[in-house]
Amino acid sequence: MRLKDKVALITGGSSGIGRETALLFAKEGAAVVVADVNDAAGQETADLIKAQGGQAVYVRADVSKAADCENMVAVAEQTFGKLNVVFNNAGIMHSDDDNAVTTEESVWDLTMNINVKGVFFGCKYAIPALRRAGGGSIINTASFVALLGAATPQVAYTASKGAVLSMSRELAVIHARENIRVNALCPGPLRTELLMKFLSTEEKKQRRLVHIPMGRFGEAKEMAYAVLYLASDESSYVTGTEFLVDGGITAAYVTPE
Ligand code: NAD
Repeated sequence: MRLKDKVALITGGSSGIGRETALLFAKEGAAVVVADVNDAAGQETADLIKAQGGQAVYVRADVSKAADCENMVAVAEQTFGKLNVVFNNAGIMHSDDDNAVTTEESVWDLTMNINVKGVFFGCKYAIPALRRAGGGSIINTASFVALLGAATPQVAYTASKGAVLSMSRELAVIHARENIRVNALCPGPLRTELLMKFLSTEEKKQRRLVHIPMGRFGEAKEMAYAVLYLASDESSYVTGTEFLVDGGITAAYVTPE
């Protein structure tokens, strides 16, 4: 019960990393607020938690909308009395996101609105609630692409994750003496819907796999265990980090045959 008596808010909790983290958090004793735009799947996450004996509520929140983010925090405090952990995890990877010449402005704007402004709003409205709770832990999902460039471009996505990483670092410094920790999770390439939809052919998958020392995509659950550590008091001296969980991809120059 590593999160006993904690209340956690997870955006993008309908799928992938967010769902696995919601289920794990609940198993470890947290009451979980699942926020997403996919209502059916979000409600399903909350129902799965309740079926395993945990506490959960689903709230619809488009993280690119200020009012929705304000409301998801209010729902957490109204339903469970406080807020201790925030996992700003919702994000998109647009199928038309490409290089600087070909990427449309609309794709850039949508990606930035969800991936960057969404994390900003998640922090903006959660930080006062964390203060009311006497402190807390914020984990923002960035990506290994915040640290590595790729010749298979997605410039809007890559820029958005760089912004999440630097925003998280600065927030960590600002709030360090308020007992509020802020860390950026930097996942490697994962076998979730987000990436598998983008890598629609075997050739596209292989183009990436060759660069991963472990030779496989990561699993959402492998991120959830890292987020659990960052959310729990076990990481009480950890703030401002680029928390890489990437199968070794950022460590590699040449990978094994
Ligand atoms: P996913 O597509 O399985 O889950 C993303 C969730 O976010 C979905 O439930 C979706 O409905 C929700 N969402 C999308 N737009 C939203 C919005 N405007 N408001 C609220 N919710 C919204 O993807 P995932 O792989 O679990 O990705 C989670 C996070 O991890 C994202 O930020 C992603 O960029 C990041 N990430 C993923 C990978 C990867 O390889 N899959 C690698 C690095 C980082």
